[in-house]
Amino acid sequence: MDSPQTAGKQFRSLETTDRGELLDYIAPVAATIIATLVRLALEPIVGSAVPFGTYFAATIIVAWYRGFWPSAVTVALSIFAGAYYVLPRVGVDSLFGRTASATIAGFTLLGLAVSFLIDFQHRTMIRARKAETLQASIAMENARLLENTKRSEEGLRIANEELTRANRDLETFAYSASHDLREPLRTISLSAQIIERDSRKALTADALRFLDQIKTSALRMDTLLDDLLTYSRVTKIDGGAPKADASRVLTGVLENLRSQLEGAEAQIEADPLPMLEIHESSLALVFQNLISNAVKYRGKEAPRVHIAVQQQNGDFVFSVADNGLGIDEQFSEQIFNLFSRLHTKDHYPGNGMGLAICRRVVEQYGGRIWLEHSELKRGSTFCFSIPRKA
Ligand code: ADP
Repeated sequence: MDSPQTAGKQFRSLETTDRGELLDYIAPVAATIIATLVRLALEPIVGSAVPFGTYFAATIIVAWYRGFWPSAVTVALSIFAGAYYVLPRVGVDSLFGRTASATIAGFTLLGLAVSFLIDFQHRTMIRARKAETLQASIAMENARLLENTKRSEEGLRIANEELTRANRDLETFAYSASHDLREPLRTISLSAQIIERDSRKALTADALRFLDQIKTSALRMDTLLDDLLTYSRVTKIDGGAPKADASRVLTGVLENLRSQLEGAEAQIEADPLPMLEIHESSLALVFQNLISNAVKYRGKEAPRVHIAVQQQNGDFVFSVADNGLGIDEQFSEQIFNLFSRLHTKDHYPGNGMGLAICRRVVEQYGGRIWLEHSELKRGSTFCFSIPRKA
């Protein structure tokens, strides 16, 4: 099918190739010769009536098929042919007599005027026809585009539905897996404690070490299940959230982290924080993970953490800056993936879910989270945005 551009090109090319061909020059000559021959053939029947009749017909035909200028040439040639072959035969003696001049002038004027009108009419008709063709191909192209758009929209809708379903299934799976695994885990942990309590003396040093390992692993798995539950519970927020006082949320988080902060002799400073539309528990989750990481991944100096906020293009942008170990910039995206860690469990406890949880929470509110800046051994600054929604 033609695109509008192709149709446009065709339109233009038809316009230009219609006229100005070799035929434009041959047609007047041929038409004049034929008109003369016809005139001679008809003479015994029609006599002297309408001396330029056949030339007039030839002029009109040339005007229709070849345009105004070839037909003007036909008029000129016809005058020449008429003056030598027709006028003398029909009894006009002098070429320059009144009758002959009047006949020639009448034929010339009438021939040119009619040629002009016919040519004009013909061109207008051709233009209208081409415009119609162009319109039809544009309409067809539009219909095709509309059809394509509809098909893409439908595809997108189906993909969206599948994604939502897969997400829901994943959430349900993560929730039930972490929920159902807690029970056997508690039994393992409890059994290890009972064995240790009741049979401690009968156990060898190796057996005690293995028991210790069972307890530590059970504890770690418990934390992992906790985090998985938290992650799967962060679900889409529909409609507006209530107003939360970020300063109050931060105070609560610092209270929760008190023993970790005191143990590390951490200094936490915060600028005045605003009221914003978010569930307090969600904001607490983000603050808690970022501040606890800032303290956990500390360097040699006592950790110093600064929490600030700015307004940017309709968003509140919070920043949490520390003076800790820092992160190699090449991992600035990867650290937000589930279970992605840059440090081993032996040195820094954790399961690589903290930042993934933060990202999930922030994105539920239409915000985003990123590593703004980091330098190894000097510290990192994490930022997250939450839309203000007046
Ligand atoms: P976790 O702390 O349980 O390992 P996170 O998702 O919170 O999981 O962090 C992912 C990784 O990003 C961490 O293992 C750590 O290597 C790195 N990281 C996060 N926060 C900081 C920080 N403030 N300073 C240095 N490294 C960090």
